[in-house]
Order: sequence, then structure tokens, then C-alpha cells
Amino acid sequence: MNNPVFDCIGVGCGPSNLSIAALLHGKSEVRHIFLEKRTEFSWHDGMMLPGTSLQVSMFKDLVTLADPTNPFSFVSYLHQHGRLLPFLNAQFDQVSRLEFADYLKWAAHTNENVCFGEQVKSVNFDDNHFIVETPSRCLLSKNVIVGVGIESHVPEFARRHIDGETHFHIHDFTKKYRAVGGRRVAVVGGGQSGAEAVLELIRRTGSDAPIQVSWLSRRENFSPLDNSPFTNDLFTPSHSNFFYDQGAAFREAFLTRNVLASDGISEYTLRDIYQRLYLMRYVERSPMNVRLMPFRNIVEVQRANKAWMLTACHVGSGEQEELAADVVVWATGFRSSAETLLHPLETRLERESGEIRVDRDYAAVWDGPSDRRIFVLNAARRQRGLADPNLSLTAWRSQIVINKMLNRSRHTALDDDAFIEWAALDASAKHGAKESTGIAIQLPGNR
Ligand SMILES: Cc1cc2nc3c(=O)[nH]c(=O)nc-3n(C[C@H](O)[C@H](O)[C@H](O)COP(=O)(O)OP(=O)(O)OC[C@H]3O[C@@H](n4cnc5c(N)ncnc54)[C@H](O)[C@@H]3O)c2cc1C
Repeated sequence: MNNPVFDCIGVGCGPSNLSIAALLHGKSEVRHIFLEKRTEFSWHDGMMLPGTSLQVSMFKDLVTLADPTNPFSFVSYLHQHGRLLPFLNAQFDQVSRLEFADYLKWAAHTNENVCFGEQVKSVNFDDNHFIVETPSRCLLSKNVIVGVGIESHVPEFARRHIDGETHFHIHDFTKKYRAVGGRRVAVVGGGQSGAEAVLELIRRTGSDAPIQVSWLSRRENFSPLDNSPFTNDLFTPSHSNFFYDQGAAFREAFLTRNVLASDGISEYTLRDIYQRLYLMRYVERSPMNVRLMPFRNIVEVQRANKAWMLTACHVGSGEQEELAADVVVWATGFRSSAETLLHPLETRLERESGEIRVDRDYAAVWDGPSDRRIFVLNAARRQRGLADPNLSLTAWRSQIVINKMLNRSRHTALDDDAFIEWAALDASAKHGAKESTGIAIQLPGNR
């Protein structure tokens, strides 16, 4: 067979793999290709609501934290599009999500190693190479980087009702015009995406406006994202490394305690909603009935004539209540989707806290040869911490993966860049977190 063998094939081209593709660009020593199933780049288009912003700094782009001089940076995008000074003078508090998506699209389509319209159907192994199968070809590679991202999560009991019209996940919110004029809409989920949907709905006026918007959340209140400096230190390599070294029970409890550091609602979105409610009630005397209902756990949904009947259980009192809606929007989050693709290798992969177990370099722990690796991106939140699914450490994680493929030290310039000493002092010394060689020593401890 004269099939070329790649050093690395990336599956999926969202920000996680695009970052690796950008950092590998021009490196001829790594023969690589990245495959994306969509025919052109898109970044959660179905949730691209007007006025939404990036929840992280623009420096947390595809490359800057690993390689600030890389031509695929956000600043480089602004420069190449002749808008660096206007961007500065506009003094945005946050970068528009639409503009950041355009940046990502530019980085994807100007990189000739990124191929669109090729869905990877399976990843298997033939004792020497990974076999990556798409509908049009079979490719061989020494390493595979799975960056297939996330898929919508809807509670089990509601899945059979999803129809894309009156009952759908927030990921499809903007895929078509939502004709909700004069109707009752229920938005389930108290995170950022639920908040953005509610804001869009209550901004509507006249015949486009719903007659009722109910916002239901299991949380005790509509709670803000904690974006303060020390909380942001949870999104650093030093915390991710510390987190990785802890036991499963500690990690699980930590994620629960600190959920608002990553899944709270941006303060500006909360303010926009509150101010809109004020204007509607006291100034415009809007006829729209807005019901804010935290503390509610939705436990059932049924068809009731032409409407939907939601059954909620009050988290505090345990009482059940019913709420009718014509349209139900599930803003109930996402789950990693790496599992399906790796199904042929399922029995060869180790598991950890329900996830594919990864080593310190984000390679799946498996029973194959040690120089053949399956890197898994954005699928190890329970092992790597809060930052794993978002953009904060994307460029750093990419550098770790590349270093591993090139048999370089995993140590990066960012690793020691922290004020906080998370681990007990002797443990961090043993671990090499402060060692100049950066060669980390695996502790036999709790993992
Ligand atoms: C609306 C929204 C806004 C967000 N905003 C922020 C933010 O402001 N800041 C932040 O830090 N994080 C944000 N996030 C978190 C988000 O998960 C990350 O920003 C980022 O999208 C993760 O990138 P990814 O590449 O891992 O996954 P994804 O972006 O999901 O990309 C995965 C890609 O893989 C492709 N794919 C899947 N299966 C296959 C296959 N079999 N073959 C080929 N291709 C395949 C998909 O088509 C997709 O393009 C946001 C998430 C959402 C939903």
C-alpha cells in the first residue's frame, strides 16, 4: 500500500484542533492534516445571538499563550484585515463573539492543512498505525488528535419530544427565525446560554414578542460568572497541573464548588436582563409576562393539546408544579462527543471518572504502543479542571501535545507563571513544577 503515513491527523476543526494546526503550520518535520466534517468553518452558529461577547480575554486565542509571534493570532488577524487601530480605539470591554468567530474562520481557511467536508467515521488501529476512515479515504497516522468538541445535552425524558420547531436545544436557537410572537416560551437552564436566549426574547417588541417568557433554573439564583483575578487563576497551567494530581473525590467536589467560575452568567448579561425588565415593567408597561423561576428542577415534559406541560420540582420545598409553554428551549449544556468516534478502540482505553483517562500530555491511556498516541482535547474536565472545555488553556494544551509528539520536554514558559502555590510545598518541589528542566516526575500517589 503506498498510502502516506502521517505523523498526526487531527479530527475536528473547532478551536482546540485549529490551535494545534496553527502551531504546527510550516513545521515540515511533522506531517499532518486536520479533517473537519463541515464544509466551512463555523463556531456555534446556532447560538450566535446579537450582541454576544467572548467570555475570555482576546489573548486566549489559538496561539498567543504558546507563541505570541505566531501569524495566526487574533492581533495578526486584526492587522491583516486593516483594523488594528480602529479596534483599539473602539475600546471594547469584550470582543464580539461574531468577530472572534470570523477570526477563527480566517485561521481555518488560510491554513492549507485543514480540510473541510471530511467527516471521520472511525478511528481504529492495525498494530502499527491508526486508521482514520472518512467516506472518501482511509488515512494512516502515528498519532491522532481527537478534537470533536461537544454535543447538545437534553435530559433523557425530553429527548423524544425534540422537534426543532417548538422543542429544541439552545444550540439550534438561531438556525431559523423563531416565530414566537404571542406565544409562551420556557427557557430551561440558568447558565450563560439560557440568559442570552432570555435576553433576546424579552428584547422583542410588537408582534414578534412572546406573550410569556419563563426562565427556569435548578440554581438558587441567576448567578454571575466569577471573573475576578484569583478565580481566573483556576484557568492557568499551574492549577490544571495541580488539579490533575489530586484524587477523584477532591476533583469532583472542587468542580461542584467552583461551577460559577466557568458556568455562571456574565455580569453584563445579567445587568442587560435586569435593566430590560425594569424598562418593560415601569416605563414601557409591556404586556409580556416574564417569570423568573430559579430553584426548579424540571422532571417531566408532556404534550398537552398543542402545548407542552413542564413538571418542575422545587429544589427547596420538594413541591411539584406545572407550567404550560408553546415553545421549550433547553439550555441544559453540552457533553463531550469524543466517545462515539473512538468506539472501535473502546476496550483498549482506560477510563477515569467516566472520561477517557488521559496522561499529563492529554494522550489517552491505552494498551497500544507507547509511541502511538490518541490525544483527546476538550474531554477531560474531571481530570484537568474547569479550563478544559473553554478557550483559556487551548494554546498551552496544544503546545503540550506538540511537545509530546516531538519528544520534547513538556515544560512550557507558562507553567511556572503563577502567584498561587496550589500544592503542598514538598509535593510541588518533587513534581518539578519549579524545576528548570521541567521534566515532571509521576508521583505514585492518588492517581
Ligand atoms: C455558544 C458558545 C459560546 C462559547 N463561548 C466561549 C467563550 O466565550 N470563551 C470560552 O473560553 N469558551 C467558550 N465556549 C466553549 C467552547 O466549547 C469552546 O470555545 C470551543 O468551541 C471548544 O472547541 P473544540 O474545538 O474543542 O470544540 P468545537 O468548537 O465543538 O469543535 C469541534 C469540531 O469538530 C467537528 N467534528 C465533530 N465530529 C467530527 C468528525 N467525526 N469528523 C470531523 N469533524 C468532526 C465539528 O464539526 C466541530 O467543528 C463557548 C461555547 C458555546 C457553545
